[in-house]
Amino acid sequence: MNKKRLLNHVLSSRDFILDLIFPIECLGCGAEGVWLCKTCFRQLPLQAEQYCLNCKKPNEFGQFCPACASAYSLDGVWIAGNYENKIIAALIKNLKYHFAKDLAKILGEFLILFLRNLINKGRIGRTDLSLGLDKKKIKKIRQTPEIIFDFKNCLLIPVPLHPRRERWRGFNQAEILARAVAENYNLELNTGKLIRMKHKKPQTKLDSVARQKNIQGCFAWQGENLNKQNIILIDDVVTTGATLNECAKVLKANGAGQVWGLAVAKG
Ligand SMILES: [Zn+2]
Ligand SMILES: [Zn+2]
Repeated sequence: MNKKRLLNHVLSSRDFILDLIFPIECLGCGAEGVWLCKTCFRQLPLQAEQYCLNCKKPNEFGQFCPACASAYSLDGVWIAGNYENKIIAALIKNLKYHFAKDLAKILGEFLILFLRNLINKGRIGRTDLSLGLDKKKIKKIRQTPEIIFDFKNCLLIPVPLHPRRERWRGFNQAEILARAVAENYNLELNTGKLIRMKHKKPQTKLDSVARQKNIQGCFAWQGENLNKQNIILIDDVVTTGATLNECAKVLKANGAGQVWGLAVAKG
């Protein structure tokens, strides 16, 4: 066997070897052979209430409230689950460090469910309309962001890693999540045109002001003008929103319409 084939052989049997060392068990109930069984998946709580990421004031759709919006290029952030839920936290942590594909499939399904709920929240049924529009329904229409009404035309972009980081990790976990959502809803997915340029200090070690400075100028758009298209940026975890906001700034400078963030949980 030549060196390359030997290496491929070792890599393809790596999961098998890891299975032997760390037998897979459902993170919820301990059932063997799966990361999360169907029963435990169904019990994962979706975060129903959204809020302004800046001041934490609750609202229906996670938009920045009028007082906070002017400081952001981003229109709002959707957070699908709660990091305090032990299973969600374990899924995210493992997604970053190993076993990406199986875990991404589970978390991708979780995002799909979350989006279905979100879209339904903004939906005004045909019967509602035939009964006429009262104040409550008009308020609902006003509060629903444009991107929800026009969901099928939006573009999904995973938050990119720096190429060096991606090579080291072997994959971008945000991209795997975005791919699952795009396939399920038949949405356009763009990878590789929003790029991360500088490899700065890891954001996790910085406070929120330092985070904002650290991330400035880190992204660039290498595609065509976005021509008012609405965009959903996908990441596994959102913290202060500084990274998402920096991406939104670049995308809007290149013609994007609304830009929203979607994350599995808030870290
Ligand atoms: Zn289970
Ligand atoms: Zn606010």
